Amino acid sequence: MEIYLDANATTPVLPQARAAALAVMADAYGNPSSIHGSGLKARALLDEARAAARQVLGVPSGQLLFTSGATEGIQTAVLSALSALRQRREAGDSTVLQLLYGATEHKAVPEALKHWNAVLGLHLPIAAIPVGRDGRHDLAWLRAQAPSAGLVCTMAANNETGVISDLDGIADALRGSPALWLVDGVQALGKLALKPVERGIDYAPFSGHKLYAPKGVGMLYVREGAPFTPLLAGGGQEGALRAGTENMAGIAALGAVLRALQDGSSFASAATMAGHRSQLEAALREAFAGLVFNAPPALCLPTTLNFAVPGLSAKLLLDLFDAAGLRVSGGSACSASKAQPSYVLEAMGLPAWQTAAAVRMSFGAADPAEMIAEACQRIRACGAALRANCLVEAPEDTAHGTAPLLTRFVVDGACCYLLADAASQRCVVVDPLPELVERLAQWLRCRGFTLAAVLDTHSHGDHASSAAELRAAVPAALQATGAVDALGWPQGATQITLGAYRLSRLALPGHTEDSTAYLLHEGTQLQLALVGDTVLPGALGRSDFVQSAPLAYADSLRLLARAVGPQTLLLPGHDYDNRFACTLAVEAAAQPLLAGVLQGQLDAAAFAAAKAALEQDLAPTAYQTMACGARVDAATPAVCVELPVARAQALQQAGSAALLVDVREPYEQQLGQAPGLDDGASSQAVPLSGLLNALPQWLALPADTPVVFYCRSGNRSAQAAHALRRLGHQQAFSVAGGLALWPERATASV
Ligand code: PLP
Repeated sequence: MEIYLDANATTPVLPQARAAALAVMADAYGNPSSIHGSGLKARALLDEARAAARQVLGVPSGQLLFTSGATEGIQTAVLSALSALRQRREAGDSTVLQLLYGATEHKAVPEALKHWNAVLGLHLPIAAIPVGRDGRHDLAWLRAQAPSAGLVCTMAANNETGVISDLDGIADALRGSPALWLVDGVQALGKLALKPVERGIDYAPFSGHKLYAPKGVGMLYVREGAPFTPLLAGGGQEGALRAGTENMAGIAALGAVLRALQDGSSFASAATMAGHRSQLEAALREAFAGLVFNAPPALCLPTTLNFAVPGLSAKLLLDLFDAAGLRVSGGSACSASKAQPSYVLEAMGLPAWQTAAAVRMSFGAADPAEMIAEACQRIRACGAALRANCLVEAPEDTAHGTAPLLTRFVVDGACCYLLADAASQRCVVVDPLPELVERLAQWLRCRGFTLAAVLDTHSHGDHASSAAELRAAVPAALQATGAVDALGWPQGATQITLGAYRLSRLALPGHTEDSTAYLLHEGTQLQLALVGDTVLPGALGRSDFVQSAPLAYADSLRLLARAVGPQTLLLPGHDYDNRFACTLAVEAAAQPLLAGVLQGQLDAAAFAAAKAALEQDLAPTAYQTMACGARVDAATPAVCVELPVARAQALQQAGSAALLVDVREPYEQQLGQAPGLDDGASSQAVPLSGLLNALPQWLALPADTPVVFYCRSGNRSAQAAHALRRLGHQQAFSVAGGLALWPERATASV
């Protein structure tokens, strides 16, 4: 059973509202502009809904029109205000010099200001009203700017943080100003009294779907006498203020919600909601040590909690909560390649880690106490899952001594590897990154492994090695070795042993003078090689740095080929396109220059010259970091690896040779079981961070064996499927939409 804690994004539809919408569609489907009986019935419904809205909002006067939502209400208000400002300017009034909006407004507001300012040819400067650390508007700033403002837009409560604006303070700062005042009431509706008439608000837009009505319906209040220009002209509906036949199903549903607000039957009181928040707050603090709230709870809507946990990314927390069936959202918008920090939290001046790691939990006034109690239990289970998997501090008696052989960490395309031998409890970190120091230190402390070495594959051009930082963070885990060289290799040692495994090194000058590969053997068997940037998936490391050795590169590649052969898995220092690993055979097929040098068709100078030509004007990567190699094959594979859920389910049937692989991380797997694991198809749990451990065994499967990956949303499983295909196993698939689209029945059966 999912628990929906994302009410600030949208809410479910209240049963009364659903019933009202259905009744309109079934029986009262007339057009309220018609004068026959059916039309009159619809008109009565429309009038009733408007009357309820006027009562709830406390606006006996002024206009109250139904819209398609808040975005339309905002456009109408901005168009109206700016049209009036243009008229004033045309009449010779030059007092209006700027338009103002709160720095934390929903994007609909500044974008509407920009749009209509340009369309109407006003071209007034638009300025953001700064907010303080508490998220509230800087009233002194506003007071100073108000005399020259034509329109001021300030939301009643913020959608990301829940911070409630000081509307009385703003009204006071605007006293005597010629500015019109727009207050976005979306998040306040049903939770705060807006008092638009008393406060002299000119425009207040609202949205139905944030308060248990369906999407596609909203309201706009316009003060009596405030300028008005219709956004939609046509058949004269809504008193000619908003043309177009009314969305009667939506309006009837919104009317039902407004009546429920009046009679108090379905919505919790402010005190009850505050109690729910306290329970959630306590559960969060208990589950996640060091958790910080990003806005002062006392200034926020009782239904919104925005927080961050040191050392845990928003993505990790969202995956974790989702696995526990808790639907929350990132406080920041995530693009495919990189999480964008929240502009709201940035405007409040929060530190970068907090703006990037923010998570928003929001519930609704109709959510019952049992749901909140269950949510608290699951939050505590999330904390326990992180502790059990060593992602956060665990009491000493729960420390774990197990680990997969290989764990991969990626930060903006740069890869760091942890090689760990569970039997001897010894491990090595290769290419540590500053962003990972705390995570790796936590890993080591919790598992009690000895850190035999911290190695770099080369002196990095794009970042400093954090080896010393990591060593300093885990003094107790360090093996008492003597001196190490610049790349961290113990001086005088020919190999590093990790139980039955041993690591040796191979100098490969080219990308840098000191580029080195580390070869991992189990007994006498070569398992894999960590090659840094010497060979990257789809690229060769660039060799145009001052510390590069371009003329040595060709010989290094041939030496590597002799040492590892065509099929050994090579783990790269950078992986911009989530390919995980490569082999010389795969790369030679993708990169003509590599094939040429390995086949002896190019001497060192010709190779260096051809490579230099490739590296001219290398653009930054998708992460806006320096590219460490010139990619020669397409970044995004064109093939589709997605399998609809129904096909994946068919593959689960008994008799199929298909292998079903859950690539979610162990803490997610612990919280939410995957569907159908005992239904016939063989199944595995291989987290994406440990994918490298299983690649060799999948590559050895018969060519026609389907390997079907799944995860939460289909994103990580698609990465795994593409990686396996590129390495040679073409029957690799990803379940489209992941567990999010997996039928409930199957999920419930395990
Ligand atoms: N204003 C605020 C504060 C919001 O939270 C939202 C929706 O997220 C909007 C405006 C836009 O509302 P709608 O999507 O209904 O147009």
